[in-house]
Amino acid sequence: MARYTGPVCRLCRREGMKLFLKGEKCLTKCTFEKRSSPPGMHQQRRRKVSDFALQLREKQKARRIYGVLERQMTNTFEKASEVHGATGETMLQSLERRLDNTVYRAGFAKSRSQARQLVAHGHIQVNGRTTRVPSYQVNAGEQIGVKESSRASSYFKEAVNWAKTQTRPGWLETDPEAFTARVLALPTRDQIEAQVNTQLIVEHYSR
Ligand code: SF4
Repeated sequence: MARYTGPVCRLCRREGMKLFLKGEKCLTKCTFEKRSSPPGMHQQRRRKVSDFALQLREKQKARRIYGVLERQMTNTFEKASEVHGATGETMLQSLERRLDNTVYRAGFAKSRSQARQLVAHGHIQVNGRTTRVPSYQVNAGEQIGVKESSRASSYFKEAVNWAKTQTRPGWLETDPEAFTARVLALPTRDQIEAQVNTQLIVEHYSR
């Protein structure tokens, strides 16, 4: 399935919450509070929501927050279900450990989609090696950095100032001036800001 290229604010309205898909605009120019009704002609109709619909919406919400395709989401769930422990939490941790998400959480991009582009265009290194795979899973002890030749660009000069103002999660130690971030430990559930009910997602895939 192709990546969604339509209006992203529509996705927030569909999920009934701010998904923060547009970077800085989400903090300064968001109109979600004024217009939060679901998109579509039949938005006002009241319907009983089935269990399936609830589970589907939760899965879609997680997919949209992290910007992953259906196939990638299914793969993430399948891999998580092979690991010992709570499948939902392992799946969410796996989404959080993606390289594009790590770049975003470190503050070097204003949105996950922008972070994905930085990775795909070869601006990001892991332990000193350029990695162009947004789905790469970071590990504890690894260092994420901006490629030396990219640091002088106007984008990264601005990104450093942005990164300094951002609250970083406890699993990352960021040094904006050095264009680096270190993964201190794998993210725990309370360090992941995505508000998703993982139990519903597990139920969706277990049908
Ligand atoms: Fe649009 Fe961002 Fe607001 Fe969502 S949070 S409605 S993407 S501006």
